[in-house]
Amino acid sequence: MPSEPEPYDCEVLVVGSGPSGAELARILAQAGVDVLLVDRLKQLGQAAFSSAALPLEALDRFGIPAQVVAARWSGWQLVGPGEQRRLWSAEQPLGAVLDFGALRHWLAGQAQVWGARLQLGITALGWHQDGAGVCTVVRNGSGGRRLLRSRWVVDASGECRALIGEAASPADPLVAGLGVEWLLQVDTEQQRLWGDQLSFFLGSDWVRQGYGWVFPMSHGQLKVGVCRLADPSKAQPALALQLRALIDRCGLGRAEVLDRHGGRIRSTVRRREQHRVGRLIGLGDAVSTANLLGGEGIRHALASARVLAPLLLQALAKPASSSSLDLYPSLLRRELGWRWILSGRLARRTWLGLSDARADARLERLLAGLQTRRAEDLSALLFDYRFERYGLKALPYLWGWS
Ligand SMILES: Cc1cc2nc3c(=O)[nH]c(=O)nc-3n(C[C@H](O)[C@H](O)[C@H](O)COP(=O)(O)OP(=O)(O)OC[C@H]3O[C@@H](n4cnc5c(N)ncnc54)[C@H](O)[C@@H]3O)c2cc1C
Repeated sequence: MPSEPEPYDCEVLVVGSGPSGAELARILAQAGVDVLLVDRLKQLGQAAFSSAALPLEALDRFGIPAQVVAARWSGWQLVGPGEQRRLWSAEQPLGAVLDFGALRHWLAGQAQVWGARLQLGITALGWHQDGAGVCTVVRNGSGGRRLLRSRWVVDASGECRALIGEAASPADPLVAGLGVEWLLQVDTEQQRLWGDQLSFFLGSDWVRQGYGWVFPMSHGQLKVGVCRLADPSKAQPALALQLRALIDRCGLGRAEVLDRHGGRIRSTVRRREQHRVGRLIGLGDAVSTANLLGGEGIRHALASARVLAPLLLQALAKPASSSSLDLYPSLLRRELGWRWILSGRLARRTWLGLSDARADARLERLLAGLQTRRAEDLSALLFDYRFERYGLKALPYLWGWS
């Protein structure tokens, strides 16, 4: 007797094969769930927009292998305001800069090893609830449209928020930063100068309302970039010009440009937006896990997948009840911690305000007051948001009183 047609294309459709989507697909597939992972990219190495700097413990926590690590770093260099330079070095590596395209490949490969199906060149356009499931409208590479039916759909499309949308409350709006980065091939002397640390450029004469960076990569390459928060109330100069000026000031103007990329990072500060609408769930940057202070979100995106996965597995096991998912926003907030919110406030205040000499002077006082000599403490400050390492003098600034 012919069997009944399978009503669903998959149990869970994951839209977006970035860190959050691919990690979720892996965990679900490992638990035996039929997962379809789609991405609008035709190749996962394309558009590797992220600088992908991480602290070392994130590599351990998420089992990130050596093959995706482009360089390790063991110190911090803060340049600015003006030409002021501060350097902190550790004996041991403190973190890594990843090849973001290779990370995407590896994560999606892990999901496939456990049985998830990956389809590239598929763009999700919209969705609607369909009885006990969801219908997602997608476009394939040749422009044709089709419907994908699933029990659940996860929007892991990053800051695009392709399905979950941009609805944020006026009291807690989306704050957006735009970044441009070039991959440069440099000589051994320049590699030696920039190769061991993460260098940041702070102050309005470097990048107004943002910051610049030079990060090491493998094979004599550097990632040089600028990022700036969007401020509709001010005319902002073209980012590419600011990047060119940074490259020239760093003495890197003659280096060969191997790749140009960039992207947007967008989060609310208090993260009160909806994380789920019916059978659609947001994940990673699509629900504001990216942190605006250092423009950093890979480990938070991966962590969001680990928070959601057990809740979604429970919901799949009990189709009549999805109450486990009610806990998702609060568990994710707990995972990110209260310091995450404080650092978002600090980012908005510091970067948006950094537009003139007065703001530079305030930043200079803050940096001068940095009560640490250890690179490890700076990592705790910038990656764990341990602002008390600034000392009590900084508290009024952090809370917005000065
Ligand atoms: C310039 C820049 C520098 C950064 N540097 C760092 C850094 O140094 N360290 C760090 O930790 N973080 C950094 N980040 C942030 C970090 O890259 C993100 O927080 C992280 O990639 C978020 O992961 P995600 O899986 O949530 O989303 P994403 O990585 O954005 O993945 C989303 C995926 O969804 C796909 N997609 C989008 N729309 C659709 C659609 N409609 N249909 C199908 N697929 C779709 C995209 O192609 C993409 O592959 C940086 C970001 C920028 C912009």
